Amino acid sequence: MLQLGLEELYKQVCNYNPRVIGIQLPAGLRRKAQKIANFFESRGHDVIFSGDPSYGACDIADEEMHNAGADLLVHFGHSPMLKDSALPVIYWCVRDDVDLIPVVREHFEMFKESGKVVGLLTTVQHIHKLDDVRGYLESKEMHVNIGSPMLRVSYPGQILGCSFETAHVANADFYIFLGTGFFHSMGVSLATRKKVFCCDPYSMQCENIDDIKRKIILSRYAAIENAKEKHSFGVIVSTKRGQYRLNEALAIKKLLKENGKKCQLIFVREVTSALICDFDFDAYVVAACPRIAIDDKDTFDKPVLTVAEAELMFNNGDYLFDEIHKL
Ligand code: SF4
Repeated sequence: MLQLGLEELYKQVCNYNPRVIGIQLPAGLRRKAQKIANFFESRGHDVIFSGDPSYGACDIADEEMHNAGADLLVHFGHSPMLKDSALPVIYWCVRDDVDLIPVVREHFEMFKESGKVVGLLTTVQHIHKLDDVRGYLESKEMHVNIGSPMLRVSYPGQILGCSFETAHVANADFYIFLGTGFFHSMGVSLATRKKVFCCDPYSMQCENIDDIKRKIILSRYAAIENAKEKHSFGVIVSTKRGQYRLNEALAIKKLLKENGKKCQLIFVREVTSALICDFDFDAYVVAACPRIAIDDKDTFDKPVLTVAEAELMFNNGDYLFDEIHKL
């Protein structure tokens, strides 16, 4: 269960002595909006919420909140990523208190047969429990690596949907991802090409996601082949600061033109199916969050590729996940 930790948060809030507090919540925490507002209002503060989507720390609502008169932004659910901001920001990483060991214990035999060195990975809400899992596996004489953070994440073993730096650093034979859903584990699998077990501490299920990875790679190659036949391309640049990849967009524009394609840049905040449909380009390359082209594929009626996939139109290399390696 997620713990908001409002009393603990408030100790940090008081350091800034704010009159107005801007609050940014990911979708899963918006049902707590009134509880959070009541908490701060009862202590004499005004509260403003950002209602735009909040998918990650790549996109903080600092400028909007600053313009709206907030003295402080509390960005819930993600660890720090961006260096600069228009007003002080507290990144409040809500913790999940679920025990991670039972699901690992339940499926231990499967791990033992998968290699000598296991890498442990999770998302920020479980990060405080990762050392418990390490202790358990080491007590079973497994060699455990937890990779150190470098650029886009803050904690050892933490991953994002666009960045698997801690998995690369861990350099394991295989990985155990602790968390729910396939979004993150599928990214690890695509980015490392190694075996990944997705262990859900709530359902107690543990799945080797090799089959899912294979299906996704096949469908991405189909999209690449489809795009190869197209003549005009829109190259989409996100204006979100942590997704802003103008250099990559310019490089892909150059590559497309060198290969006889027509190409224009499109700057946008949210990449939607309406955007893809409204412009009259035959296909698109998204120089933004790499998950848009892959995870939203079924909502688009034209081929939409990541930057790395667009490069594969003109060479026959192995599939490469389009990780973001910068702030
Ligand atoms: S770029 Fe995409 S995957 Fe990465 S933090 Fe932002 S929304 Fe999440």
